Amino acid sequence: MNYENKVMCKECGGKCCLNCGCTYMVSDFRVLNKEVVHNLLNTQRVSISSSQFLMESIIKGYKFHYIFQLRARNIDRGEIDLFSFTNTCASLTSNGCYFDLKHRPGCGVHLIPDKDDCYVDYDSNEELFKWFNYQNMLKEVIYERTGMTSDEVIKEDIIKAYYDILNDNYECLSKANAEDMMSMLCYLKDIYPECLDEAYKRGRKK
Ligand code: SF4
Ligand code: SF4
Repeated sequence: MNYENKVMCKECGGKCCLNCGCTYMVSDFRVLNKEVVHNLLNTQRVSISSSQFLMESIIKGYKFHYIFQLRARNIDRGEIDLFSFTNTCASLTSNGCYFDLKHRPGCGVHLIPDKDDCYVDYDSNEELFKWFNYQNMLKEVIYERTGMTSDEVIKEDIIKAYYDILNDNYECLSKANAEDMMSMLCYLKDIYPECLDEAYKRGRKK
């Protein structure tokens, strides 16, 4: 299967890649263990990222649930990028994708260019849920790379996101991504009020 259409993607200018790096599929790996993940992070082209789901419980109110996965790294983002404004994929070059088809993250390989609306040949939720079996392994890698738990990294990332908003530092965002992020922030301030306080404090110290 090869959906690549370099002519159409060149004309488009890589709109999908300007929004965010594409995500790996579990099926991209013959073996997926800590060593493989460390090696990928060492290439500087991949990050551990997360997808967030907002959940509501009658007792505890709103809460985010995170699913960790691997994704092509975005510009100015680190190897552990659990919660941030999305940004252009760092592997987008003037000649298209840095990765050849064999090494490109699966969600990019399975994206079908179309002049009206590009689409995928897989079920996004199904692919995401396949990462469930690898959550503990990815959390261990996060700890080994940062010395922090995934919860601690997420809070630190949220403080940075708040800080950037308070300082109007989000020009890299597409309009659609900015709207998504802003809608999420309404919940964040209730779920993580301490992060907002900390972002204000850091702003005052400058
Ligand atoms: S897949 Fe679609 S959005 Fe992405 S570069 Fe090609 S034509 Fe543009
Ligand atoms: S890895 Fe390649 S196809 Fe995927 S977003 Fe980056 S440049 Fe685009």
